[in-house]
Amino acid sequence: FALFTVDLDHFRNVNDVHGHAVGDTVLIETARRMSIFNGRGTTIARLGGDEFGLLLELDTIDNTPEHLARRMLETLSAPISIPQGLLRVGATIGVATSEFRNAGSEELMRAANLALAEGKRTRRGSIRFFEAGMDEALRLRSTLEADLRRAIAAGEIVPFYQPLIALDDGRLTGFEVLARWQHPQYGLIPPASFIPLAEELGRVGDLFYQILTTACADARNWPGELGISVNVSPTQFAEPQLATRILAILRETGMSPARLELEITENALVDEVSSARQSLIALREAGVAVALDDFGTGYSSLRHLSDLPIDRVKIDRLFVEGARKNVDNWRMVRAIVQLAHALDLETTAEGIEIADVADILRDVGCDIGQGFLFGHPKPADATLDWLRE
Ligand code: C2E
Ligand code: CA
Ligand code: CA
Ligand code: CA
Repeated sequence: FALFTVDLDHFRNVNDVHGHAVGDTVLIETARRMSIFNGRGTTIARLGGDEFGLLLELDTIDNTPEHLARRMLETLSAPISIPQGLLRVGATIGVATSEFRNAGSEELMRAANLALAEGKRTRRGSIRFFEAGMDEALRLRSTLEADLRRAIAAGEIVPFYQPLIALDDGRLTGFEVLARWQHPQYGLIPPASFIPLAEELGRVGDLFYQILTTACADARNWPGELGISVNVSPTQFAEPQLATRILAILRETGMSPARLELEITENALVDEVSSARQSLIALREAGVAVALDDFGTGYSSLRHLSDLPIDRVKIDRLFVEGARKNVDNWRMVRAIVQLAHALDLETTAEGIEIADVADILRDVGCDIGQGFLFGHPKPADATLDWLRE
């Protein structure tokens, strides 16, 4: 026996855009299409919402569950006719198989649902088979999720600060703010291990506001008008209030907008084009600067450079590392710096680890340098000590 659980992909959109009557049409049509697979000993059920289940006896050779699931996906992905025209909904399918119909039907249901959940999480419009270990992975994930939620609430995720240095005269201009999770059990966890999860959980915004607030407070203890550069995740641009909330935090903490720079990646501008642009324009009008991070790694985008509301380009570590060893890389870095300057943009080179590379970058006219040569990211108290040295 094979149990297929099916979830429609854009059903909520259908209801929002076309109304419930069309939603009902889609559900009925889906049930009809699933019934095509009705054979000996088959059960079809609506599991609630836009989910359906189909239990099927695998009686013949060509009835492999893989084959059936593929045909089911094709059938369900065909356009549905509605009064306004044709509608393509699409579906994600989870599959679990068992030798006997009644052998642990609850287990079978759980397994198919796990496969479906995994499919919805990783790739909609696909087929996922239950695999041993899926429940273990899910349990681990939900533990980590709960742990991250707790950590955000408990303020365990804190900003570290890495110095930004003017390459011409070596003066300190500010710090990049880099998130670290100070886990009570596991110690210091790097951002690559929790930022993607926070993004997925929709919590990266909360995290950002927390980090920004703390960084603004820390920066008040620093001498002069040193800047802070804070990373903004692409998903945050979906929030219409982004600019307003950032400016409110600056006001509340008494931080001048001119001291804040936001680091964004090109993805933000590809995925959330119009809202990102609006937020950035509002922030720049208030005096906040914007840097394009990891330049050279994405789809770059000479068009982006001239076209975007940005003030600075951060040249990715990959180019910087290679600048000493490889002439082509060096020419590339020089060309990026020249291009940026021609467009009235400043440049920062990240990942500078040795003095030779800093010299090369200074010689090609790069404005700011960042990297282990000048200092590692440090917590607030160590940063303050370092500033007082
Ligand atoms: P990024 O924005 O490109 O940050 C620079 C990364 O390079 C940091 O890694 C920094 O510690 C590292 N780095 C700096 N100098 C050197 C060097 O000389 N050599 C080498 N090998 N590495 C150097 P980190 O702190 O692990 O952060 C990784 C990424 O996580 C960041 O890359 C950024 O994309 C993301 N991230 C960090 N904090 C936040 C945050 O608060 N919010 C969001 N959305 N993303 C963050
Ligand atoms: Ca759905
Ligand atoms: Ca950055
Ligand atoms: Ca970067």
